[in-house]
Amino acid sequence: MSLRSRSEIPTARRIVVKVGSSSISGENTGQIAPLVDALATAYGRGTEVVLVSSGAIATGMPYLRLDARPSDLATQQAAASVGQNLLMVRYQDALDRYDIVAGQVLLTAGDLENDTPRVNAQRAIDRLLALRILPIVNENDTVATHEIRFGDNDRLAALVAELIGADLLVLLSDVDALYTKPPHLPGAERIARVAFGDELAGVEIGSVGRAGVGTGGAETKVSAARVAAEAGAAVLITATPLVAEALAGVELGTWFEPAG
Ligand code: GLU
Repeated sequence: MSLRSRSEIPTARRIVVKVGSSSISGENTGQIAPLVDALATAYGRGTEVVLVSSGAIATGMPYLRLDARPSDLATQQAAASVGQNLLMVRYQDALDRYDIVAGQVLLTAGDLENDTPRVNAQRAIDRLLALRILPIVNENDTVATHEIRFGDNDRLAALVAELIGADLLVLLSDVDALYTKPPHLPGAERIARVAFGDELAGVEIGSVGRAGVGTGGAETKVSAARVAAEAGAAVLITATPLVAEALAGVELGTWFEPAG
């Protein structure tokens, strides 16, 4: 049964929550604990929860003594390799407070477009969920660089939602909703609900995120939302500090109706 509105979120069976680099690294590292609190609340009511988290490069940077994001791909991948490890430690530390164990799943969008790795990933995630483990997914940056280049873990999250038949995808970033034009411009209005198939004609959608370390923007979110909605998942776009309210079904963010 697909979710018809935000108030049905607490009844969701399977949810995928995606968080961007700038929300959980650097000065926002402290947002990991409240994010995990919200995930643990959903988990505690029996919902199956998958987290898709970027942030490996940003988390690894200080450990490579880098002040700024490296510009060459190999150093970005090295930073991601170091940072992924530390990111998982930080998530697990926060999850320990709830006796929840995380499972790391590193994937590429290409994996999910090819039968053999797709079936393997689906079986592994299904089993993790059956074991009540919380899968944490990121792009496998040493073999794939799509997210590094295009900022597109949003798409990976949508493909994961499709893969596991999630009924909800929550895309978290530093902006609380989609707006009719970039939110800092006068007259920008929040778009509360997007009907299935609505092309959002007349809406000015930015392609670049505002934060320094993340790379996605509203554009990647909208196209990811369409992929997930097509697959039958409702999609909620909102800001990371609002995740607890979002998962409780409060009227916030932008809601994309699912197909069917
Ligand atoms: N998957 C990478 C990460 O987790 C890429 C993110 C980015 O390009 O900022 O850091």
